[in-house]
Amino acid sequence: MTTIAFIGLGHMGLPMARNLLKAGFALRVFDLVQSTVDSLAIEGATAAASAAEAVAGAEVVVSMLPASRHVEGLYLGNSSLMAQIAPGSLVLECSTIAPESARKVHAAASARGVAMLDAPVSGGTAGAAAGTLTFMVGGQAETLERARPVLSAMGKNLFHAGPDGAGQVAKVCNNQLLAVQMIGTAEALALGVANGLDAATLAEIMRQSSGGNWVLEKYNPWPGVMENAPASKGYSGGFMSQLMAKDLGLAQEAAQLTASSTPMGALALQLYRLLLKQGHGELDFSAVQKLFVE
Ligand code: NAD
Repeated sequence: MTTIAFIGLGHMGLPMARNLLKAGFALRVFDLVQSTVDSLAIEGATAAASAAEAVAGAEVVVSMLPASRHVEGLYLGNSSLMAQIAPGSLVLECSTIAPESARKVHAAASARGVAMLDAPVSGGTAGAAAGTLTFMVGGQAETLERARPVLSAMGKNLFHAGPDGAGQVAKVCNNQLLAVQMIGTAEALALGVANGLDAATLAEIMRQSSGGNWVLEKYNPWPGVMENAPASKGYSGGFMSQLMAKDLGLAQEAAQLTASSTPMGALALQLYRLLLKQGHGELDFSAVQKLFVE
């Protein structure tokens, strides 16, 4: 049985780790928050007291952390986890981070004789729970084939985006588009309601018309329109606005590097920064609706 170390059991990591357990993998888990480690231990995982303890004896390491600094800090920082991962093992780094950070971790993995993929995901917490995530993979095609049984236990679509870091480039492009769709949808809903329409009626009209998009299908930002969307649960759960702001910042960095023109992405970043300044950074990113109604 393959032993997997899973590091980072937050909104996404916890359900992803659960699916690995369900698929029959032996799991060693670590997070800075002890309660999440404990809850997975009750479900059959082995609790580790540190990341180093989690990777000892593991053939595969999966990490799901907030941002570049956490990933670089874990693998390359003072305690340098990479030096403690056995040569010949496989690292699947699933966080959304800067392509350049991913490439630094790839280089350290390669120097250690460890295979690695940057494998950020799309599909949200619902996709993580259902095991239907999309993985956007950067690294060698043969490494993806090796990782396929593990990734398939957590996701449905596995895309090879290109070489080291390419998964992260695909992810920031996707999230920039998602943010623009979310803001545009929130703005249109507020406009309609201000002009006398019912939010649910307008949402359904647009969903079935040329304005239809993923946000209207699955993630409506207006409270009460979609029972299971974060908007209907006080914008709790889901994907925090501060993480969306981070991803939009990564998109702007990528644009800067290539002198790409990304005015919609730049505006989306500014609007999310405003939302953060209003104290809503920990709310789901659909809380951008608040900018248009309060
Ligand atoms: P989160 O903040 O809920 O979880 C991150 C977890 O990492 C936390 O439990 C934290 O304690 C842990 N952590 C941080 N540093 C650590 C360390 N050094 N060692 C061990 N654990 C550590 O974030 P999330 O929503 O699960 O997102 C994780 C990543 O996935 C982010 O990069 C995010 O951009 C990306 N993502 C999130 C979603 C979503 O819908 N939430 C969707 C796609 C991608």
